Amino acid sequence: MPVRTLDNLNPAGKRVLVRVDLNVPLKDGKVSDNTRIERILPTIRELSSKGAKIILLSHLGRPNGKRVAGMSLKPVAAQLAHLLQVEVGFATDCVGETAAGAVSAMAGGDVLVLENTRFHEDEESNDAEFAARLATNGDIFVNDAFSAAHRAHASTEGLAHLLPACAGRAMQAELEALQSGLGDPARPVVAIVGGAKISTKIGLLENLVKKTDTLVIGGGMANTFMHALGYNIGKSLCEPALSDIAGRIMERAKEADCSVLLPQDVVVAGKFEAGAPHSTVPVGNIPASSMVLDIGPETVAEIERVFEKSATLVWNGPLGAFEIPPFDAGTNAAAHAAARLTEAGRMYAVAGGGDTVAALNQAGVIDSFSYVSTAGGAFLEWMEGKRLPGVAVLEGDQAAFAR
Ligand code: AMP
Repeated sequence: MPVRTLDNLNPAGKRVLVRVDLNVPLKDGKVSDNTRIERILPTIRELSSKGAKIILLSHLGRPNGKRVAGMSLKPVAAQLAHLLQVEVGFATDCVGETAAGAVSAMAGGDVLVLENTRFHEDEESNDAEFAARLATNGDIFVNDAFSAAHRAHASTEGLAHLLPACAGRAMQAELEALQSGLGDPARPVVAIVGGAKISTKIGLLENLVKKTDTLVIGGGMANTFMHALGYNIGKSLCEPALSDIAGRIMERAKEADCSVLLPQDVVVAGKFEAGAPHSTVPVGNIPASSMVLDIGPETVAEIERVFEKSATLVWNGPLGAFEIPPFDAGTNAAAHAAARLTEAGRMYAVAGGGDTVAALNQAGVIDSFSYVSTAGGAFLEWMEGKRLPGVAVLEGDQAAFAR
């Protein structure tokens, strides 16, 4: 069911509690990456232009229910003010008299950041009383933090039961992109799953074989599949205990008519080191003293052929040890091929997950993809086919919500 949105909402003069993701990297007390802040600016600007009092809630880091000076949102509020080019207030607590006092001093259009919700342990336990204390400062709840929506916390889930609630523009854009990627995609669909290990992505692989036409498996996790198929993979990263699971995934893929594309040739080296002497070999010929660190050019060419006939791509995980050149070559080549097709309007490409964003950034293709999700855990859980509690609670009738 679709989520409620800001469409037709008239928030003038209302106190709007907006859950955002201000969990940004800080270096020497300053924000070192603005990506997450930039994504929430449209929601803030829209609400501000409509005269709402905008009260931002977020977590930062893992303070485990204690006040930790280095995890204060104060420097993040300053950076938000800089990016918005307006004054942004800050309250040193997200509940109690401090928060209430700051909120009561607000005028329509003002923006206020409340201190880190995780300074209270009741946030993560989704304590009903704590959610009610947060709710006293708002008339409407807007959730614009997709990346925190896989957790049922007081500020992501609990609050939505207590106030009229909808998704903000960043959350809406993310959900629309994911819907186009896997919910109701143009076919054929190809998925790339790479990264280090299969153990963290079993649920993802099992869901993708049901939803896609081709599943490309690369990165370290492909080694476990090759091991399951009886190939000698030398010193490569492998999870032999998960051989059976790899076999089961290939079996399920066959049942679901999803073709699994494993590496046909690979780049191997004796050491996991930049510039280590390396060579390209067929998968049947991996030397016992070597480890697989990337896919080879024939595999890249096969991926490009699959891309050519696919309308949708969903991608999680690098195809090789992309941090160490030249083992970024396979990931870069596939990323550029997807970018070209997307720019030509022939493919809808969605990617997400921490290392994937870094790898696509390094390849210089982020802006060419249809959508790149910066949500790590939430993106993966959504790709696994799970219902995210922070999203489920926003589903419902738009007409009854905003008129
Ligand atoms: P993940 O967080 O599961 O997406 O894994 C990303 C990590 O997988 C990156 O740090 C890559 O360097 C690593 N990786 C990808 N391919 C390989 C490989 N063939 N051998 C070892 N590590 C790899």
